[in-house]
Amino acid sequence: MSAGNGVREKLKKLEREALAELQAARGEAQVRSVSTKYIGRKGLLTHWLKEVGKLPAKERPILGQMANQLKATLEREAERAIEEERKRQKEEWLRLEQIDYSLPGRRPLRGSKHLITQVTEEIVSIFEGLGFEVSEGPEVELDYYNFEALNFPPDHPARDMQDTFYFSPNVVLRTHTSPVQVRTMERRNPPLRVIAPGRVYRHDSDPTHSPMFHQVEGFIVDQQITFADLKGTLTYFVHQFFGPEVQMRFRPSFFPFTEPSAEVDIQCVICRGEGCPVCKKSGWLEILGSGMIDPEVFRFVGYDPELYTGFAFGLGVERIAMLRVGLSDIRIFFENNLQFLKQF
Ligand SMILES: [Zn+2]
Repeated sequence: MSAGNGVREKLKKLEREALAELQAARGEAQVRSVSTKYIGRKGLLTHWLKEVGKLPAKERPILGQMANQLKATLEREAERAIEEERKRQKEEWLRLEQIDYSLPGRRPLRGSKHLITQVTEEIVSIFEGLGFEVSEGPEVELDYYNFEALNFPPDHPARDMQDTFYFSPNVVLRTHTSPVQVRTMERRNPPLRVIAPGRVYRHDSDPTHSPMFHQVEGFIVDQQITFADLKGTLTYFVHQFFGPEVQMRFRPSFFPFTEPSAEVDIQCVICRGEGCPVCKKSGWLEILGSGMIDPEVFRFVGYDPELYTGFAFGLGVERIAMLRVGLSDIRIFFENNLQFLKQF
C-alpha cells in the first residue's frame, strides 16, 4: 500500500467526521468551531494538505485535488449551516413578535385633577355663574401690591399676621390673592366683577397651615354696591357649594383693606351645629373673610370713593376642601400620596 492510499483513507474519514459534526452543530458558534477544527489555520484538514505536499510527485496532484475539494465542501457546508441557523433564528423572532390582536389591551395609567384643582374650579364656576370674570396675578409680588396699596402701612401690626418669604425688602411671595384687586383696579375702571384663584404663601407650617396654599379672591366695584350685595352674593355661594340647608352667619372682623369687615361662618358640616371636635364644640366653622373695600384702597388706584363702592372676599381652598371631605391635616394635599389622591 502506497503512502498515498493512507492519505486518501485519512481524507475520506475526515470528510465523514467533519460532515457529521457540522450536521450535529447547534448554533452559529458551534458551526464555526467545527469549521475551525477542520479547516482553520491549525485544522486537521490543513494538516493533511501539508502532508499531501510531501507525497511522491505522481500521487500529489490527485490527492491534492481531493484535499482541496474536501476543503471547499467543508467551507460550503459550514456556510450553509450558518445561513440556516440565521434563518431559523429570524423565524423564531418573527414568531415571538407576532401580535395577538385578541388579547385585552394594556390600559395606560390615567391621571385626574387634584382635589384642590377640582374645588377651585367648582368655586370659580359658581361665581362665573354670577357674571364674575377670572383674573390672575403674579405669585412673586411687589410689597406695594401685597401690602402697601392694600392699606398695610410699613410696620403695621397687621403685617405680622401674614409673615411671608422675602426676595428683597420690596419683593415677596404674595400672602394672599388680594393684590389682584389693586392690579385690576389700576388697569381698568368700574364696573368690575372679578374672581381671582391662585397660590399664596406664608411663613407657617403645622397640621392646619401649609407654607403654600390656595385662595380664591373675589370683588365687585360699581356705583351703589352695598353690604346687602356682599351678603346676598356670599349666601348664594354657600348655598350652592355646601347645600341650601346650611346656616351661615357674619361676624365682625378686621382687615386693613376692607371697612367694615366680616368673617363668614357656616353651620358645622360635620355635626350640623350640634358641636364636635372639628368646630371646637361651637357648631360653627369659619370659611372666609370679607368686607366693603376700604376707601383708602380706592385712593391708591385713583377711584373716587364718593362715587364707587365695592366689596371683596377671600377664601382658602384647602380649608373648604378639608371641610367638604372631612380632613384634619392640610399636609396630605401636598404629599403626592396616590392612595389619598385617587379617592377624589
Ligand atoms: Zn361640628
